[in-house]
Amino acid sequence: MTVTPTTPESAILTDAAGPVSQTPLLGQSLEALTEWVRSQNQPTFRAKQLHDWLYYKGIHSLAEVTVFSKAWREQIADVPVGRAQIHHRSEAPDGTVKYLLKLADGHIIETVGMPSPRRLTVCVSSQVGCPMACDFCATGKGGFLRNLATHEIVDQVLTVQEDFDQRVSHIVFMGMGEPLLNSDNVVAAIRCLNQDVGISQRTITLSTVGIPGRIRRLAAEQLQVTLAVSLHASNQALRTKLIPSAQAYPLEGLLEECRDYVKQTGRRVSFEYILLAELNDTPEHALELARHLRGFQSHVNLIPYNPISEVDYQRPSESRIRAFVKALEDQHIAVSVRYSRGLEKDAACGQLRASKVAG
Ligand code: SAH
Repeated sequence: MTVTPTTPESAILTDAAGPVSQTPLLGQSLEALTEWVRSQNQPTFRAKQLHDWLYYKGIHSLAEVTVFSKAWREQIADVPVGRAQIHHRSEAPDGTVKYLLKLADGHIIETVGMPSPRRLTVCVSSQVGCPMACDFCATGKGGFLRNLATHEIVDQVLTVQEDFDQRVSHIVFMGMGEPLLNSDNVVAAIRCLNQDVGISQRTITLSTVGIPGRIRRLAAEQLQVTLAVSLHASNQALRTKLIPSAQAYPLEGLLEECRDYVKQTGRRVSFEYILLAELNDTPEHALELARHLRGFQSHVNLIPYNPISEVDYQRPSESRIRAFVKALEDQHIAVSVRYSRGLEKDAACGQLRASKVAG
């Protein structure tokens, strides 16, 4: 069954998370766990044990924590740990694994694990669905349901780590949803993944289509994550056609916030540019793009379009892609082409969808 999408205007500008009856333990810092352990009249060293079992042993229920007394384990058996279930797992020939994870309220989100010789990258979702409605993206076609809570973001990383039996080295917020519409939970998840799970902030990338004021707010958090901005067009008119929300956010304003991000954090910004045949992929578009980015500490990541069923865009030919790359290089713009992983399993950029389990 596919969920009926709801896209309330207010949802676009709020950080409201879904209802949670009791805060799950996952996502909490050692300090917060210490407070909880104290409230249970237990000695504080139990908090360190709980932290280890949550983040390193990957427990799904407190009943598994055999270092706790049986009596206490029985008392706390119903306290939610916050782990989702793997509802479905599919592996593409290139080793990319797509997971459908079932959340406590029955919603399904998608997470992707991408192995390579010295890396394990996880593509995480930040919302159930997405309200941005970008024309070329499957997630937006299904509408928006709710923000993910902090533990639901952290859980995705632990799930991939466990399934691959390998430490996750890189995280990209490029799954379902717009992370900067859920900034509080996303920032809390980044801190947790860094401090509690032990993943370096420098190997975490947050991808956004841009929400006015939110990149500046992210910069104020003083994180060391890489900011990736989904630009996709070399001028405001074209961008608005592809990304309806761009109407309220002139390209100049977006680029200004990105420049501030570089100043504040010292980190270069990465610009994502989806290549759509005949639409935004001519050398003239490349020149126009280069003019915006001249002197900007940045990198352009070209993403040849991955087909989705609802729209009729085309992926450009290899020779058109090469010509676009050359036109940018001639302007001394740092550029690379990202060929998406997991295409065969609809696990590539822009192909992730929200759904709900029937029954
Ligand atoms: N909302 C965020 C993160 C999710 S999308 C954002 O927009 O950045 C991650 C990347 O995949 C974005 O750059 C997005 O524009 C791109 N993408 C979406 N649909 C795509 C498609 N059909 N083919 C290729 N890339 C796509």
